[in-house]
Amino acid sequence: MKPICIAPFVGFDWRGNKGFDKKFEGSYRPCCDAQYHDDISPLYLVEEFKSVQDIMQNPLAQEIRKSLLSGEFHTVCRGCERLSKQGLKSPKDKYNKLLDQIDEPLEWSVEKGTESENIYLLDYRSSNLCNFKCRMCTPSNSNLIAKEEGVGEWHYDDTRKVSEMVDHIPLDKLVLLKFAGGEPLIMDEPLKLLEKLGDLPNLTVVVLTNLSKLSERALNALKSAKVKRIHLQISIDGTGDTYEYIRTGGVWSNLLKNLEIVRNLESHSEISMGVTFVAQLWNAYNIPDFARWFLEVESKLIGNPHSYYPKIHILHVIQPYLQLGNLNADDLKMIRNQLIEVFDGQSEENLDLMLKPLLKFLVEREDKKLQEFSRVTALLDERRQTSLLSLDSEYTRYL
Ligand code: SF4
Repeated sequence: MKPICIAPFVGFDWRGNKGFDKKFEGSYRPCCDAQYHDDISPLYLVEEFKSVQDIMQNPLAQEIRKSLLSGEFHTVCRGCERLSKQGLKSPKDKYNKLLDQIDEPLEWSVEKGTESENIYLLDYRSSNLCNFKCRMCTPSNSNLIAKEEGVGEWHYDDTRKVSEMVDHIPLDKLVLLKFAGGEPLIMDEPLKLLEKLGDLPNLTVVVLTNLSKLSERALNALKSAKVKRIHLQISIDGTGDTYEYIRTGGVWSNLLKNLEIVRNLESHSEISMGVTFVAQLWNAYNIPDFARWFLEVESKLIGNPHSYYPKIHILHVIQPYLQLGNLNADDLKMIRNQLIEVFDGQSEENLDLMLKPLLKFLVEREDKKLQEFSRVTALLDERRQTSLLSLDSEYTRYL
């Protein structure tokens, strides 16, 4: 019998944060889409790295595999379950599609994943080391935010050695290797892995990046890897001053320069790029400008019709106090109208990828959280010596 999702059978998601008491090496999830048991605890804490097979055989992984093999979603898979019950696509569909790229028969095993114990999929986050403090991000994803918030336990420990795990990841069977962070392109572990890749024509590498730092080492690693594709999924949450306001540490002109560099990179692998945009109150009035910018540059800067991700991935921020529905009805209408104008005459694809999701988020909330929005904005503005009102006086109504 085939499991309803193959992800925990063929690989795993690894987060190398040391956690509150530094008593563990990192944490396991079956995939990056799995939900935590509660709000804070990672899923399965690995105290000491022994081998990749040892991680694959942890008790939680076995429990999840048992469920999925018997046709039931495990509790950590509740996101996929909800979407599937609504008849919608869920993350499990994209993982199940990876089967097409695995060119050997697989024998499912609750204990080990597959009888061969090969790893085909790895989502690898070596730590929270980051050079940005994006306002909607969290300490577990940026050591600079951890430092700013005084949650020292989440700090990236710069005395720590490069994780031993890097030397033990079997690369030869991988079809998807994804790096996230923090910022993977400034971390030793992802670069070390990229440098080790060799000739792997079946492998797609995905790097979730802010694209702010392209060191010679990073560029050489991107150039020399001989894989099927390297896809850079770049987080851009606005244009110009809005980009710099939200993505503290980022410089708009530098980002544009780096997009050009990647666009012109001569590599042994096919290079593609895509953009992830998180819609939120802090970029609300910039959304039409961002859309206009993206539509203008997509073929020049981003253009690659075969991207692993869609060329643009529009998300809505998770925190309720930052969601667009906190705006008043007039402002929501104004932004909606501006957007409809921007997308006039655009392709069906662009309407589906950009306009439709944005319009879905531009709906007034009944339970507005403006007090919290005002509190967090004031706190971060004070800490970072910035001013939302200088960015756009429209915010006067909300602070
Ligand atoms: S069912 Fe969904 S959450 Fe569970 S392992 Fe598969 S993709 Fe991940």
